[in-house]
Amino acid sequence: MSTLQEVKSLLADLIAFPTVSTDSNLDMIQYLADKLADCGAAVEIWHDDTGAKANLFATLGPKRDGGIVLSGHSDVVPVADQDWASDPFVLHEQDGKWFGRGACDMKGFVAAAIAMAPKIAALELQRPVHFAVTYDEETGCFGARALAETLREKGIRPAVAIVGEPTMMQIIEGHKGCYEYTTHFTGLEGHGSSPDLGVNAVEYAARYVSKLADLKAQLRSRAPEDGRFEPPWTTINTGALVGGVAHNVIPGKARVEWEMRPVQAGDAEFVKAELEQFCTQTLIPAMQEVHPDAGVHTEVIGEVDGLEPVEVNAARDLVMALTGANGADVVPFGTEAGIFQGLGMQVVVCGPGSIEQAHKPDEFVSVDQMGQCLAMLERLCTKLV
Ligand SMILES: [Zn+2]
Repeated sequence: MSTLQEVKSLLADLIAFPTVSTDSNLDMIQYLADKLADCGAAVEIWHDDTGAKANLFATLGPKRDGGIVLSGHSDVVPVADQDWASDPFVLHEQDGKWFGRGACDMKGFVAAAIAMAPKIAALELQRPVHFAVTYDEETGCFGARALAETLREKGIRPAVAIVGEPTMMQIIEGHKGCYEYTTHFTGLEGHGSSPDLGVNAVEYAARYVSKLADLKAQLRSRAPEDGRFEPPWTTINTGALVGGVAHNVIPGKARVEWEMRPVQAGDAEFVKAELEQFCTQTLIPAMQEVHPDAGVHTEVIGEVDGLEPVEVNAARDLVMALTGANGADVVPFGTEAGIFQGLGMQVVVCGPGSIEQAHKPDEFVSVDQMGQCLAMLERLCTKLV
């Protein structure tokens, strides 16, 4: 079990990088890059626009299409306002568990994958094995989106991907997307006694909310047959409608905070097209008739693509063979997997630890789970040659 000790020491190093999403991840990326370069990987580091964050993409084996991606994110959620029994950035072992921020979400999987790299490098690889480590997953998968863009530009086309988010090593082949938006309404303030001289932003926001409610109802009938999600259709939620100051003032500003959780990409396109048409043909012309500067604009807070369960999925078949599982499931939380699927890859989510511990104080991954993850990667080695 020496490898498990190596994984522990790697995980301890990774946990010690305080890669909270708001902060830089460059030290951790450089650490991983060095480890992978040491075993002969071709390593690329792709920075974001600020230069403070980067994605890592490393390849062992032949540089050609196909092969597999082992994927994880480098960032973790904050520890502020959480009550931890030990330092969250120091790995602490107790009762067969490794505690630390990111232990299960998801530095555990990254540590296991990196620990296996020398072994993979020693194989006569027929197809490439890629390691992808991204930034800003927790704030909306921005790193994975940028990584996907770079892969597309460079024409790098892996065939399958395993995203090691914590699933207790169960195979997950589907999750809904999660798109969050804030739609801002700019009207014209005025006195409540002269409504025709103002543009009532709250009233337009209310009409928008009503449109969202109509779409929400329509989406039920678009649910795919044998949908496995709960509920099986795309949902919309209006989470907040904020605006106005007092009884006698025409509100000049309002905003609607809303989300949708698509079960298929076509639903998101349908909703966006309907809203676009409603705004450009109905709301905005009416607002601008009174005040040319009035308008509506939608701010994207985050768009995490869904992972659509598909019939043909080589990643699922591979991981089933590796873990001995006899099925795959769907989960209610989002991951980067949908972005990889959008690139044409076949993808599953499967990793050590439980989502129950993710984002919480005293986050941990059990040594048993890490052992299972390593065993999966060991068996993967036998399939790579
Ligand atoms: Zn995660």
